[in-house]
Amino acid sequence: MNDTRTCNSDITCKQYDRTAGHAWPTDQPLCDACLDAGQRDIQALVYDYLDLAQLHEASMSQAITEKTAGSKEKQMLIVAHVEALQAEMVHVLTTWEYELRVAARLSDLEAPAVIPDWHTTISNPPPKLKVRAGTAVQRAVGIITPRVRMLSRLPATTVCATGVEDEHTEVTGWQAIHQLQALHQRARANLGRTRRILSLHGTCPNDACTAQALYRLEPGSFGEDPPVWCDTCKASRAYSDYEHFMVHLEWPEQVQPAVAA
Ligand SMILES: [Zn+2]
Ligand SMILES: [Zn+2]
Repeated sequence: MNDTRTCNSDITCKQYDRTAGHAWPTDQPLCDACLDAGQRDIQALVYDYLDLAQLHEASMSQAITEKTAGSKEKQMLIVAHVEALQAEMVHVLTTWEYELRVAARLSDLEAPAVIPDWHTTISNPPPKLKVRAGTAVQRAVGIITPRVRMLSRLPATTVCATGVEDEHTEVTGWQAIHQLQALHQRARANLGRTRRILSLHGTCPNDACTAQALYRLEPGSFGEDPPVWCDTCKASRAYSDYEHFMVHLEWPEQVQPAVAA
């Protein structure tokens, strides 16, 4: 039945219904909120690529080498790891740029779009050695970003999923969007931009749920106060309520179960 179809992002759907336990109902492969998130993440790959290139150059510099003297082997691994991620970004982006060009009947000779703010900061010049691949990333992102909806509807295509040496697999357009988003997440992790999720002691503030599965996102900046949530029933409370719980072993405004009638 068509009306029971839901967004293919499933549990990671931006509009996942926690009460009913399903992703957003839609007859499209991905819901609008997931498409918007996909577009933002793919757009960010241009900057991820440049930042990774700078990370790569920093790890080769004198200052860092002094700090990590005696661990040259490990450093090589980091560089190889970052280079592999960059290569995968170029491969996946150009693969789907090509598929979209075919689907949208775009000319292969179309001049690459030039994004003026190529420099991430004024003091950091663009990395010279990576410009060719960086241009390919920019061009591919320029083709894909305005066409994420079209990409999400592309049928399964046989591609080398992660690189030219990879086996041929069938990948649909919406899976490609997820793959590109995963690359953005991996780039963020390599650049140290992800936040840890802290596991906290205590029981869920929801009386109907007795789970001891409380979590909190590590504060990202000074003054930020992320809430505490229960991973079982998804109930969430302010951190100040959790501090109250830690002192009194009771959540504020917690409805106590009736002792007797
Ligand atoms: Zn969705
Ligand atoms: Zn709970």
